Amino acid sequence: MKKAIDKVLVINSGSSSLKYQLFSMKKGERLAKGLVERIGCGGPKDHTEALKQVVAELGNPKDIDAIGHRVLHGAEVFKDSVKVTKKVMAECKKLVKFGPLHMPPNLGGIEACEKIFKGVPNVAVFDTAFHQTMPDCAAMYAIDPKYYKKMGIRKYGFHGTSHKFIVQEAAKFLKKPLAKLNVVTCHMGNGSSFAAVKNGECVDTTMGLTPLAGLIMGTRCGDIDTAAVLSIMDAEKKTPAEMDTILNKKSGLLALTGSSDCRDIVSKAEKGDKMAELALEMLAYRMALYIGAYNTVIGGADAIIMTGGIGENSTEVRERIVNRLGALGIKLDKKANKIRGQVAVISTKASKIPVVIIPTNEELMIARDTVRVLGE
Ligand code: ADP
Repeated sequence: MKKAIDKVLVINSGSSSLKYQLFSMKKGERLAKGLVERIGCGGPKDHTEALKQVVAELGNPKDIDAIGHRVLHGAEVFKDSVKVTKKVMAECKKLVKFGPLHMPPNLGGIEACEKIFKGVPNVAVFDTAFHQTMPDCAAMYAIDPKYYKKMGIRKYGFHGTSHKFIVQEAAKFLKKPLAKLNVVTCHMGNGSSFAAVKNGECVDTTMGLTPLAGLIMGTRCGDIDTAAVLSIMDAEKKTPAEMDTILNKKSGLLALTGSSDCRDIVSKAEKGDKMAELALEMLAYRMALYIGAYNTVIGGADAIIMTGGIGENSTEVRERIVNRLGALGIKLDKKANKIRGQVAVISTKASKIPVVIIPTNEELMIARDTVRVLGE
């Protein structure tokens, strides 16, 4: 019999930082968490050095059973989390083109763990995997299919680990079998994405080939007429790389209000700032638009689930969204909507579809997937 997995280290290895959490799965609790910053720019010289720092911070543990890694892009190759082997690493390296900024440090984190935690199994958990159940009618773009065949241009979606976690938690909360659960999951953070989940599986999501598509975000514009992008590039002689920076890092709430943080914008709007007010209405409008669309896609939701920094905490933004959902028979419970950071229903009892807040926990989801994959 296999030894039961207890201690799981979860690694989120980015270009200049490495976040980690250590879980005891038997106790069902987090034992440690931390962050190593400025990798390659003043701090540790590379991810192996950063990981050595993590090992020291954890007190040189000898009892880590498994390591779960966040990996940005699994494209169509990885439809689920997977135990890392030489072949898996070789496949992952072919996917770097889908995330040239994130994939190298993600994979660097795995390689560092292979060196430092010799013999401990690693599991790759992909941000895109949960969305791989999308049907072609939702995933394909209406351009010449040669671009899909040659370059893999299609919708992939992101935040899959968060969506999967809140779907599992929603099934428990609503006391419905996962395989019969129909929900719209709304991950609202600095980056935001929604997913339409039918019978427990993703059938559509707002992000696309990259995380730029869909909702208005902290610094990303979300959906935009692509011809507008071409016009700007043409008129201002921008290169694709420059335009990428404008759309991903200098747009969204930041471009509209000067801040990418919802708290600042809410307080500016309360003081009468017209652009802040408009930005919040634009944000809420597009979010309500997708909730309405996805409710149709899944044939009627059992619940709308909100999560992420904004979904879990922002009474003001939630109110603006839910107030636009009257046509679905949803009504806000203003008192219940005051809660922050905990599981709660914020719609009235009479609402046709409940709106439920469920805090996300991507690291715990990675740890759970690590245990599941290694147990199979
Ligand atoms: P990330 O996508 O980087 O993980 P988060 O999920 O932490 O981001 O979400 C960040 C967003 O959540 C910010 O716009 C922030 O303003 C918002 N937020 C966090 N706490 C609160 C709060 N108490 N009230 C309103 N908004 C909040």
